[in-house]
Amino acid sequence: MKCSFGLKFQRKITGTSRIFFNNILVFFLIIFPDILYRANLHVNAMSFFFVTTMAFAICLCCQRKILRFMLSFFSIIQIIQFCHIKYFGILISTSSLYLLEKEILDVSYEVMDLFISYFPILLTCVLSFVLIYKIYPTYPKENIKSTLGSILLIASSILYVSIIDGQLDFTPNPTRFAFENSIKTVCGYIYSKVGKIHKFNNYKAYSVERIKPISNDPVTIVYILGESSNSEHMSLFGYDEDTTPNLRKMFQSGNVYCTVGIAGAVSTISSCKFMCNAIREPDNIRQTSSDTTNLFRLAKESGFKTFYISAQQNNLCSSVGGTPYIDVLITRMRYPKEFSYQRDTFLLDIIDKQEFTDKNFVVIHQRCIHSPYRKTVPNSFCTPSRQIKHRDTLLYNNAMVYNDYVISSLFGKFNKSKNKFYIFWTSDHNELTGQNGLYGHGHLLLACARIPIIIQSNDQDFLCEIRKKHCLTHYDICSTIIGLFGMRIINPNEEKEIYYINGIDYDGKCGYIKIKIPQNGDVTVRETISK
Ligand SMILES: [Zn+2]
Repeated sequence: MKCSFGLKFQRKITGTSRIFFNNILVFFLIIFPDILYRANLHVNAMSFFFVTTMAFAICLCCQRKILRFMLSFFSIIQIIQFCHIKYFGILISTSSLYLLEKEILDVSYEVMDLFISYFPILLTCVLSFVLIYKIYPTYPKENIKSTLGSILLIASSILYVSIIDGQLDFTPNPTRFAFENSIKTVCGYIYSKVGKIHKFNNYKAYSVERIKPISNDPVTIVYILGESSNSEHMSLFGYDEDTTPNLRKMFQSGNVYCTVGIAGAVSTISSCKFMCNAIREPDNIRQTSSDTTNLFRLAKESGFKTFYISAQQNNLCSSVGGTPYIDVLITRMRYPKEFSYQRDTFLLDIIDKQEFTDKNFVVIHQRCIHSPYRKTVPNSFCTPSRQIKHRDTLLYNNAMVYNDYVISSLFGKFNKSKNKFYIFWTSDHNELTGQNGLYGHGHLLLACARIPIIIQSNDQDFLCEIRKKHCLTHYDICSTIIGLFGMRIINPNEEKEIYYINGIDYDGKCGYIKIKIPQNGDVTVRETISK
């Protein structure tokens, strides 16, 4: 193989100057992706010191196998780091690794879709560490003492930068090189998995009481679980482009309430727990591991026929919960071809085939608008002018136009009934489209939990009551639906106007936000607990 000028020079020099030259070269190669992909980078002296020490430790390693393993590992974590920066706009955190673990299927679809545009990152990170390996022949003989010294130096350097104010802290820091952040994040993830004993709050037990006798009056309650819908991209909520013409028209009918509310969490799996189970607290494992406030269970106990019809994968069933109480359970796994071709439109076909009774509780789970946005819209629905490259706002808007069609069609399946009907639609979490430079979901931020909510009913008393509320949470929606079953949740842990937004894990292990929602609906953050 031809050597570059640098490598030729490196082999000509000897002794101390060679070690020094190698160190500088390895340092430069480690930070090379930062130079290429992180605009306006301002790094503090500590990070320079850390990367220099790591470069020296790499040069010290004399066992080829260990060096190969070490460099491959560094290369992989740097690829994940820079792909994360490009996709989300921020450094990867321990919580993001939880998201990667929990939503591995969604992530793999996204990776396949974006592979070509992210290929330069992959190439840069791999090449950096391949070149470091090429610099290797500093020491002709393998030296176990030198390798042990290298490992010890790496371990102590990581420990040193991970202790802040006397405590372990793996939070990403934008004033540090990505390499340092990547290593700390992986260490934080491993630590939270194996070393950290998570302390849960000891909440008082919930109870459920019946407030109205079970009635045989015909009624249908429909709860549509939306996906990644941003109210700022919906004309129903004032967006300039008319992305939701059907929902706007439906709103004008007068029996529709809509507002921007707050999700129980900022990622799909975590949020599904709060959408289908009345749970308020962020780390209430007693309640999250029980189904006493599960909507299907309480519907069944109130004499409803229950349906869960989902365009999502089976894995969300465990978060939604209550499967023993579901009479008709259909997910994407039963009709993979149909869903893959028709997308969420196939939900309408499934609804048409159901046998409804006088009392129905129907939960419909959408896939639209999960990323990749292009793949949530059927080809037949896209107009050529809307086939825009990934991440373009227009692409998200295009998916929103399709979302409007699906949601309004689902409402249309039930809102012509002469019997009483109550239809709820909301999103699992928000989808950021560049707000504060951030994209996607999973960020532990209030903005990531702001969700559109639409409720339609022919029960005017009910609408009158719900209109008194300016902001609803997933907890409020569950409590309202449970109220329609003729029951009431008694939660001794409630505090006036205080609610929570969970991170990626519904047991609070990935942090949470404590918020206050006063009567006027003006939400404020009280406290953010990052873990
Ligand atoms: Zn989601």
